[in-house]
Amino acid sequence: MKILITGATGLLGRAVYAQLKENDDYQVTGTGFSRAEPPVVKLDLTDAEAAVSLLLKEKPDWIIHCAAERRPDVSKADPEGSERLNIDVTRMLAVNAAELGSGMLYISTDYVFDGTNPPYYPDCRPHPLNFYGRTKLEGEKAVQEVIDNHIILRVPILYGTEVYPAESSISSIAVSLMENRGGTFDDAAVRYPTNTMDIARVIAEMLSYSGRKDSLKGIYHFSGKESMTKYQMALEMADLLDIDKECISPDKKGSGGADRPKDSHLDTEKLEKEVPFTLTPFREGIEPVLKRLFGI
Ligand code: NAP
Repeated sequence: MKILITGATGLLGRAVYAQLKENDDYQVTGTGFSRAEPPVVKLDLTDAEAAVSLLLKEKPDWIIHCAAERRPDVSKADPEGSERLNIDVTRMLAVNAAELGSGMLYISTDYVFDGTNPPYYPDCRPHPLNFYGRTKLEGEKAVQEVIDNHIILRVPILYGTEVYPAESSISSIAVSLMENRGGTFDDAAVRYPTNTMDIARVIAEMLSYSGRKDSLKGIYHFSGKESMTKYQMALEMADLLDIDKECISPDKKGSGGADRPKDSHLDTEKLEKEVPFTLTPFREGIEPVLKRLFGI
């Protein structure tokens, strides 16, 4: 099976790329943009001509679309750029995947929900609070409209494959802890930190059903099950970073910036019924990240 992964230089895409490369039955091509180094192909997805030319050359059986502008504050500051990448590129890939007879797995987010009435099931009505969430939801709609053979996989806040300290919003908490030997962290919004390697493994599992009678289609949710505020994550990481917990305090009102859902817990039962998966406990998953980034 031939697989093309967009965003293979990003936090999630690099885990998916590494995982699928392990399977000798798969011929995997990864694309990235500013950070692409061979064998990952450098491709500006907003250059439709270049993107279509690569698709025609590769003729993938599946496109796994991880590339996106995923930072709510950057999305808000550059709405046109975010719409181009999160909506227009997604539609362009879906149109071409449909023409080629490929399947498309689109990575989406818990931010399509407003976080007022958790848990959220795949068929719950989306209601994004911020611009980023709206672009990802429009991306979902484009996929649903254009290509029949599709999977939409919604995931929450990610960590696991960071290659520089502030790459994820979770490792950014550790950066702040290290710089200030403590600090004040959001204790209002509940998050479900999810390990990128766990997602990569579940995607490999989902793809293995491809072409079978029970192949997967439609919207699925994947999420860690530990509910934590950023303050609680900071306490857990402080333990590993040898930082005095007395120097860490909760911000009960939460942070500013783009509006974020208070608790957009994704229920995973639909996926659990179809595909086996494991979840790495947060402490176990974050320890190697902190070791790699901070040499603890
Ligand atoms: P990321 O680390 O920011 O990576 C973004 C990827 O998109 C990079 O590989 C980047 O390439 C690529 N890219 C950006 N602009 C591009 C362009 N013009 N042409 C081609 N590629 C381009 O994002 P991520 O955290 O892995 O997110 C993956 C998916 O998960 C996204 O769909 C996101 O919405 C979703 N998600 C993420 C989180 C999270 O906490 N990170 C939470 C929920 C959902 P270069 O770096 O090489 O430029």
